[in-house]
Amino acid sequence: MAPNLLRFRNRLRKQIVLMADSLTSLLAMFKRKDQDLGSQMICPFCGLITPRRKMCCLECGKSLKLALEQSIRSWNITGGQRV
Ligand SMILES: [Zn+2]
Repeated sequence: MAPNLLRFRNRLRKQIVLMADSLTSLLAMFKRKDQDLGSQMICPFCGLITPRRKMCCLECGKSLKLALEQSIRSWNITGGQRV
């Protein structure tokens, strides 16, 4: 193979590795964001986004335990697919 072509191939490989690294870190950012959203839930009574660890809504004060149980039940019924 011609030396120019070899240099071009090596440069191209380095570029591909750099792009793969960038894409991997970009995907990692989105993944982290997803997990953050997964730790929140919307109150079925007033619609406020509330952390899942809270057992009652921060706005209306109603219990989120029942809504959480229903969401877990529907998660199990659909086999992990979000509805
Ligand atoms: Zn509420």
